[in-house]
Amino acid sequence: MRLFRSGEIIGIAADTLDFALEASEETHPDEYMGLLRGEDARDLGLDRDGTVVTDVLIIPGTESNPVSATVNSSMIPNDMRAVGSIHSHPNGVLKPSDADLATFGSGDVHIIVGFPYRTSDWRAFDREGNERKLDVLNVDLADPESFFDFTQEDIDSELSDK
Ligand SMILES: [Zn+2]
Repeated sequence: MRLFRSGEIIGIAADTLDFALEASEETHPDEYMGLLRGEDARDLGLDRDGTVVTDVLIIPGTESNPVSATVNSSMIPNDMRAVGSIHSHPNGVLKPSDADLATFGSGDVHIIVGFPYRTSDWRAFDREGNERKLDVLNVDLADPESFFDFTQEDIDSELSDK
């Protein structure tokens, strides 16, 4: 299976969004931060062209506190072409901060989820920070638990570098 496809981002899998909302709630009051990956809509059985967000990848070494989350960019695999990002705002404000806008330049879709992390407590933005449409799609993910691509060895080696 190819992990990355070019093309328009047409939506996010409902299971993936639910997962991210739950993870954000668990991370509260700190920010949750991850990168988004997608799959071709037709590979997911949809009769549409484009890419559907299907995975949230947590980068080891991500530093998080109540007002920010910083990805350790040296831990992002070279072959990982994320389609965007997702992070939480524990204060519930569903708008990108100035710091967010500075990081939105790469990736086509950036999702902000906010306290209290209900199904409706999220918005999607483009790289300029303008709100954009993102459909929530009911698709069957081949392996809905494959959110973490890193092995424990990867994490241990990162921790031992500190
Ligand atoms: Zn933010």
